[in-house]
Amino acid sequence: MNQFSYVRATTAKAAIDAISKDKNARFIAGGTNLLDLMKSGVLAPERLIDINRLPFKDITLQNNILHIGAMALNSDVAAHELVKTHHPLLSQALLAGASQQLRNMATIGGNMMQRTRCSYFYDISMPCNKRTPGSGCGAIGGINRMHAIFGASDQCIAVHPSDMCIALVALDATVLITGPKGNRRIPFGDFHRLPGDTPDKDNNLAKNELHTGIEIPASPFTKNVYYLKVRDRASYAFALVSVAAALDISNNTIRAARLAMGGVAHKPWRLQEAEKALIGKAPTAENFRIAATVATQSARTYKHNAFKVPLAQNSIVTALQKAAAI
Ligand SMILES: Cc1cc2nc3c(=O)[nH]c(=O)nc-3n(C[C@H](O)[C@H](O)[C@H](O)COP(=O)(O)OP(=O)(O)OC[C@H]3O[C@@H](n4cnc5c(N)ncnc54)[C@H](O)[C@@H]3O)c2cc1C
Ligand code: SF4
Repeated sequence: MNQFSYVRATTAKAAIDAISKDKNARFIAGGTNLLDLMKSGVLAPERLIDINRLPFKDITLQNNILHIGAMALNSDVAAHELVKTHHPLLSQALLAGASQQLRNMATIGGNMMQRTRCSYFYDISMPCNKRTPGSGCGAIGGINRMHAIFGASDQCIAVHPSDMCIALVALDATVLITGPKGNRRIPFGDFHRLPGDTPDKDNNLAKNELHTGIEIPASPFTKNVYYLKVRDRASYAFALVSVAAALDISNNTIRAARLAMGGVAHKPWRLQEAEKALIGKAPTAENFRIAATVATQSARTYKHNAFKVPLAQNSIVTALQKAAAI
């Protein structure tokens, strides 16, 4: 690991000033991803700005909008009564991620900002356009079993790794940001990016901006929800595919639906066409299968990941069945 200096910020302004002054500075929160990146040589920041003392840890409900500070720990958010009562899908998704020890260190902000788990990205002897723009992509002609089936480009086929973010995109959350020019808000679905020609950019946060929290609006999705994660082993594994499913059912009819997937695209992948296909329908396995077919119509596979299409379809059907409790 390279040498670096370390400072603690106690206000947002101090953190933003510190990062704005130094091109090679990075914020550090729980460190559960950043330190791995430094140890493997993917990143070599010269200065770490510790943001753990910033006052963005609260979880509150105001005017029916749930506010979660970016520095709140994944484990605290998953266990919080307000989250379990108003947005149980988020709690389920958080508990599907990592391990209890990691969730005790990992913050909401860090989870949203974590980098892809593409193994070529972490192997600095391999080409990777995300790590070194213009160097090529080891995964496109390599072992791409874990990689994207939606929205990839000829530059990068990596997938977004977070479980939490899949629930947040389904729940129409908003990302709260502060920076040198003041505060701004980004709808969750616009926060992360598709790779296009700039796969090195994972999201739309500028380097000198600080993510301060998220807001989740009130929704009817409090009862019929399910987060399904399919992975190679029961713990410490990122999703091969995951599905966040939320239904609003009354009189045996689906009034509203939310569906999003993880492990399939460079960003949390919302399935809006499939959601539309569910509205007004009865919650039956047959209707769920139709929605799953709609959801995967634009899939494009690579040499080793064609299995993800039927896996995605079956996972969508199962997640919807679990959500509907049929
Ligand atoms: C073995 C292992 C298994 C895991 N399994 C899963 C899993 O199954 N599912 C899952 O979702 N995750 C998983 N994770 C990832 C884990 O959830 C993330 O590492 C964690 O959420 C990152 O949070 P952190 O606070 O530690 O971030 P850090 O490592 O401190 O930071 C990560 C990045 O975010 C930036 N950052 C942090 N906070 C802010 C902020 N407020 N504003 C701006 N930038 C910020 C940092 O500068 C850095 O670039 C796993 C991690 C490990 C090590
Ligand atoms: S898929 Fe993306 S992250 Fe993985 S090697 Fe290719 S460019 Fe790098």
